[in-house]
Amino acid sequence: MEFNAFETEGIVVEQAGSGFKRMPVILHNMRPDEILVEMKYSGICHTDIHGSKGGYSALRYPAVLGHEGAGIIRAMGSDVQDKSLTVGTSVILSYNHCGGCRNCLSSHPSCCSDFEPLNISGKRLDQSTPAQLPDGRKLQSQFFGQSSFLKHSIVSQYSVVPCPYPEDLAIYAALGCGFQTGAGTILNALRPSIDQSLVIFGAGTVGIAAIMAAKFLGLRQIIAVDVLDDKLRLATELGATQVINSRSVGDIAHEIQNSTRGGAQFAIDCTGVSSVLEILLDCVCSGGTAVVVGSPKPDFMLNVNPEKLLHESKTLRGICQGDSIAKQFIPEMTKLHRSGHFPLQKLCTFYGIDEFEQAIADVNAGKIVKPILRWD
Ligand SMILES: [Zn+2]
Ligand SMILES: [Zn+2]
Repeated sequence: MEFNAFETEGIVVEQAGSGFKRMPVILHNMRPDEILVEMKYSGICHTDIHGSKGGYSALRYPAVLGHEGAGIIRAMGSDVQDKSLTVGTSVILSYNHCGGCRNCLSSHPSCCSDFEPLNISGKRLDQSTPAQLPDGRKLQSQFFGQSSFLKHSIVSQYSVVPCPYPEDLAIYAALGCGFQTGAGTILNALRPSIDQSLVIFGAGTVGIAAIMAAKFLGLRQIIAVDVLDDKLRLATELGATQVINSRSVGDIAHEIQNSTRGGAQFAIDCTGVSSVLEILLDCVCSGGTAVVVGSPKPDFMLNVNPEKLLHESKTLRGICQGDSIAKQFIPEMTKLHRSGHFPLQKLCTFYGIDEFEQAIADVNAGKIVKPILRWD
């Protein structure tokens, strides 16, 4: 399909904090290395809600967010490298990367040197965007290379992964961010051994995916921390060996040190909450690793004592997108689902596109884990 201008619709954030609004959108100037995808499903991630409120300093508005799209290819640019992709292919969308920097070329595309401009700014690297609103305002439509809150979107070729089981596209829609981030943190980045202990803060999509991955590896001690008992029950069902409701415990770091006899080997924050980040290093033992996975507030600063870090040989690190190569890891996760290790159907709740406000309200209230919007 060739087109000069193409009218579709999307859920737009006109300015930081103004909320989401369904609006007509015009697409134009698809480039030879891009792909037009008709969205069938769009997962909602906390990153989208964070972004709608001005949570990212690099993001400009008006913008279309959404970075867990799943749909069907409707047009292919002539220079797309992956020749397995064609018009009609069912695809899962994931984060964007440049494909040419040192980290992209050494199998760590989530450490791409242009990760922030390519994923967070909502624009292409040259600052252009292929979308506008009917009144002529330029619309940022390249969030994570995809802006999947659009019914049709012009997507970076690096964001497009063929879905190995198109009949289950709905259930796999959120593999490209939330599940990949949690599961990849365990299976790709940390690779703990079964006798190493793990504490996970936040039993949402990312935390639950990390718990399922840790259970798959057979870890004997997996501690989940959250403020909601329903989420902790789910964490137990899916692999946590111990749960802590942080509202009912005074000193969480102390509690974790007791439970793990001196601190866990790994403490992973999936919440971005400042008070959790402040105690993360205290939750790990000497030689242990504290991991930032959830999105913190942009202006929050962590006080770290380097002398203590040295004498306790601790590591503080960030892991973005689970250090995953989406084209490899998404198919691996579909296999884990099909073999019963990743019961995604227990975690996903579907909403019609006209119910997007309810979906956001439900995930904000902690009533559900992963909302997925279904396009009509
Ligand atoms: Zn790169
Ligand atoms: Zn996400």
